[in-house]
Amino acid sequence: MNIHEYQAKAVLAQFGVAVPKGKVAFSVEEAVEIAKELGGQAVVKAQIHAGGRGKAGGVKLARSLEEVEQHARELLGKTLVTHQTGPQGKVVKRLLIEQLSNIQKEYYVGLVLDRAQGRLVLMASAEGGMEIEEVAAKTPEKIFKETIDPAVGLLPYQARNLAFNIGIPANLVNKAVKFMTGLYQCFVEKDCSIAEINPLVVTAEGDILALDAKLNFDDNALYRHPDIQELRDLDEEDPKEIEASKYGLSYIALDGNIGCMVNGAGLAMATMDTIKYYGGEPANFLDVGGGASEEKVTEAFKIILSDPNVKGILVNIFGGIMKCDVIANGVVNAARQIGLDKPLVVRLEGTNVELGKKILNESGLNITAADSLADAAQRIVALVKEVSA
Ligand code: GDP
Ligand code: MN
Repeated sequence: MNIHEYQAKAVLAQFGVAVPKGKVAFSVEEAVEIAKELGGQAVVKAQIHAGGRGKAGGVKLARSLEEVEQHARELLGKTLVTHQTGPQGKVVKRLLIEQLSNIQKEYYVGLVLDRAQGRLVLMASAEGGMEIEEVAAKTPEKIFKETIDPAVGLLPYQARNLAFNIGIPANLVNKAVKFMTGLYQCFVEKDCSIAEINPLVVTAEGDILALDAKLNFDDNALYRHPDIQELRDLDEEDPKEIEASKYGLSYIALDGNIGCMVNGAGLAMATMDTIKYYGGEPANFLDVGGGASEEKVTEAFKIILSDPNVKGILVNIFGGIMKCDVIANGVVNAARQIGLDKPLVVRLEGTNVELGKKILNESGLNITAADSLADAAQRIVALVKEVSA
C-alpha cells in the first residue's frame, strides 16, 4: 500500500526523522489558513500517489498569502501528468502546505529489500532531487550502499560511512546518522516495502530534513498496523483493483487488450508471458486463487470486462483443488449471466479435463476450448486481432 507524502512525513516524524513543518489542505481556504500559521510563505505541494511532481508543476513556492491562494486554486482539481502517473494523470484533491526550506544541497536516501541478498540495503547519493533510476543507470558509482544484518540492525558506523561518502558536512554527520537510524526503525517497525527520501536536504540553518518522502507498505503485514491502514486513500487506487480485493481476487490493471483469468500467481505470470510471446498484450494480471467458486469467476469476468480496452479473454485454469468440469460449468454460467459478447478462449488442465472441454464445447456459447497454454495464447491473440481489425 502506498500513502501520501504528508502522511509519510507524519509517520517518519514518529521515529525522529526531521521533516519541515506543514499540514494537509483539502481546500484553498485551508491552504491559506495553514500558510498564515507558517508565517505567510509556504511550498504548495500536490498530494498524489506518484513522484515527478516537481517537473510537472505540482510543487510551487509561494512568497505571500496571495501566491499561496493562487497556487492552491490552480492545483486543486487539476489533473497532474507526471512520468509516474501514466498519460491519463491523477486528479489533485489534497495539498501539503509546508514551511519553505533554505536548501543548500539535495541528497538521496533510500531503503529497499535486496531480494538477492535477502537483506535490507540503505542507499545514499549526493545526486539528490533527480530521478535516482537515471543515476543508477548512468553513474552507479554515485550511489553508496550499506547492507543491513537483520540480527543487529543498522549500525551507526554504516550510517556514518554513507554520510561521509555522500559529502554531508562533518558537523552534520550526527544529525544524518539520527535521520538514517529513524528511517530504518520506521521501515522495520511499520513493515515498509520501500522508504525513499528524495531529496533529503541540508539547510542554511544546518538542519537535515526530509523534503520529500515516499513510504510503501507490505500489504500482507497491514493487519498489524491499523494506524497505517487508516491512511489508505481509495481515490488513488484503480477502482477495478478495489472491487477485486473485495472478492479476494488479486487483480492488477495493465494496458493491453487481452483479459486474463488464471488460478495461481505463477501460472498467471506465465500466461501473460505467453500472450506477449505470441504478439499480444495482457490487459491485466488476475489470480482467482485455488478454490475459485462460480461467484468468484463471475465477479472476475465482470471486473475484466469493466476495462473498456478488453477485446477478448483468456481463461487458463489448472483443475487441481477444483475439478475441470466444475470450473467449466462456472465459466459457462458466468459467461451466460453477464451476456459475454467477446471472444473467450479457455484452457483447462487437470482432473476431468475431457468432461470440462465437453461442457465448454456444448455450451452453445462462443467459447474456444484450447489444448495447451501455447495453443490458447495463439488463439486469443488471433481472435483479438480479428475483432480489432
Ligand atoms: P517530486 O518531484 O514529486 O519528487 O517532489 P519533491 O517533493 O521531491 O519536490 C521537487 C523539488 O521541489 C525538490 O527537489 C526541491 O528542489 C523543490 N522544493 C520542494 N520543497 C521546497 C522548498 O521548501 N524550498 C525550495 N527552495 N525548493 C523546494
Ligand atoms: Mn521527490
